[in-house]
Amino acid sequence: MIAQTVGVLLLPWFFCVWIFCAVAAQSAAEEKGRSGFAWLVAGLLFGVLALVAIAAFPPKRFIERGPSMLCPRCRSYVPWRASACRYCQASLVPEHVGS
Ligand SMILES: [Zn+2]
Repeated sequence: MIAQTVGVLLLPWFFCVWIFCAVAAQSAAEEKGRSGFAWLVAGLLFGVLALVAIAAFPPKRFIERGPSMLCPRCRSYVPWRASACRYCQASLVPEHVGS
């Protein structure tokens, strides 16, 4: 009986968290240039799992720019042919490229 009562009380909270995960996944997806609606649906289907998944996804813009390279100084991935690292501001232009 007690477990049932607790279950009934927790159900609305569970739904709130579930909906929150879906909305958070949507906004996170849109922030990364991905389909917000698709991730909203994914959030409704998978709850927290969708939120974790979109958090682990790299931004789509980054992928669309093409291949990336490792910054020699901070080991972060930066777009291929970037002139400077966006994280540590290290210059990535080879010295022999002049003019
Ligand atoms: Zn760097």
